[in-house]
Amino acid sequence: MNQFANFIAGEWLASERVKPNVNPSDLDDVIGEFAQADVEQTRRAIAAARAAFPKWSHSTPQQRFDLLDQAGSMILARKAELGELLAREEGKTLPEAIGEVGRAGQIFKFFAGEALRVGGEIVPSVRPGLNVEITREPVGVVGLITPWNFPIAIPAWKIAPALAFGNCVVIKPADLVPASTWELVKIIAEAGAPAGVINLVMGSGSVVGETLVQSPDVDAISFTGSVATGQAIAAKCVALGKKFQLEMGGKNPMVVLDDADLDVAVEACVNGAFFSTGQRCTASSRLIVTAGIYDRFIDAVKARMSALRVGHALDAATHIGPVVDESQLAQDERYIAIAREEGGTVFGGQRVESATKGFFLTPALVTDTTSDMRINREEVFGPVASVVKVKDYDEALAEANNTRFGLSAGICTTSLKYAAHFKRHVQAGMVMINAATAGVDYHVPFGGRKGSSYGPREQGSYAREFYTTVKTVYVNPGAL
Ligand code: NDP
Repeated sequence: MNQFANFIAGEWLASERVKPNVNPSDLDDVIGEFAQADVEQTRRAIAAARAAFPKWSHSTPQQRFDLLDQAGSMILARKAELGELLAREEGKTLPEAIGEVGRAGQIFKFFAGEALRVGGEIVPSVRPGLNVEITREPVGVVGLITPWNFPIAIPAWKIAPALAFGNCVVIKPADLVPASTWELVKIIAEAGAPAGVINLVMGSGSVVGETLVQSPDVDAISFTGSVATGQAIAAKCVALGKKFQLEMGGKNPMVVLDDADLDVAVEACVNGAFFSTGQRCTASSRLIVTAGIYDRFIDAVKARMSALRVGHALDAATHIGPVVDESQLAQDERYIAIAREEGGTVFGGQRVESATKGFFLTPALVTDTTSDMRINREEVFGPVASVVKVKDYDEALAEANNTRFGLSAGICTTSLKYAAHFKRHVQAGMVMINAATAGVDYHVPFGGRKGSSYGPREQGSYAREFYTTVKTVYVNPGAL
């Protein structure tokens, strides 16, 4: 069995305990045994990052550009192989997994450029004889805590800006899917990261994650995951005076108006709700459909769903891979049952057999729902979408905003008037017009509002807000 160790201070260090990483498409396929760091090892990683910080924080932009650019090239060169690994450990289909690895490579290329673009400002003082300089400096040691649904893209979009702006990193990937992050960290080390600049500690959130959050030597925490974990981390960071950023859940609405192009709407909804097994924080989990197109739309979506093949993630004929693990499958089925009990009508949502033993579930569409039902209020995080029938655009917009979340939102319409109004009035961090709510670019900000996100945006040039801190310097040049 292949063994995968933690990476601390430039060395691979095994732990006493290990955990198998099992393929959700084939439970007989074990990718390897991954180290389970304890508190002591996590503290060593933090200490290594602290020790590396003085030098790395004063490295030249060229050094940081070279490291990230090289890492980006190495990721892109291994796209097919890393995509296969990702599909094996997480269960998204091979094309989706290769796409995610490509995105990780592009993120490193983008932030290589950002390392060269950290400018400042010189401002005349309001007082005579003084100049004011505003500069940005790295925050320090950053702890990065990531979820299981994007095992390489999310680590990449946190590690790349952290390093680009001169921070040192300790990353804890989700315990369920550590292999892709392990390969990513190995690439960064091989690309020339000095010892201690990037550290990987694998293990549980309650041990490794908790130690990162509580450590006085970690200056900032960037977290992506569930609302409950995010809120608990936030409370601790506030008490410790630590900088933090949270990306959490969603209950993303997709509005379909009477005047929508039916084919465009069906494609956007089916893609947004069910691709990547619906395990995307930006998934279209609430379809809000006006009465005039409702019957045609539902029939067309059901026909499209019936043509989707659920199966092994590496099978070229598969459209939808397995659910990530047994407990997520149980959660998906629990919500389908709750939706039925509350009066919903369920199409699909059945377990299916495959040549291999895995967690296969057909996509589920829940109709006859109302906005107060749990299926419309709580995040399922699986291939399950609910439909709310509304009278007109105004009711659709009100329904779209009738949630505690605010990550992504979409509308399918051919009306410029409604598209423009929706863009301005929907309460979400990202808005899609005639496009799926999931699927975003790597060079622009990502994040939401309301209960979905907290703190500065991730990705694009906006990532600088979290990974740097501002210094204001007053200079009296006359006395120099
Ligand atoms: P969790 O919140 O369970 O876990 C996220 C990470 O936090 C994991 O690495 C986990 O460790 C760790 N963790 C758990 N407990 C603690 C703790 N006490 N202290 C510190 N760290 C801890 O989420 P999932 O991994 O289950 O991911 C699914 C959720 O993530 C969904 O709700 C989804 O909406 C959300 N998500 C949001 C995104 C966004 O950008 N808005 C993107 C992707 C997912 P462990 O390995 O032990 O689980």
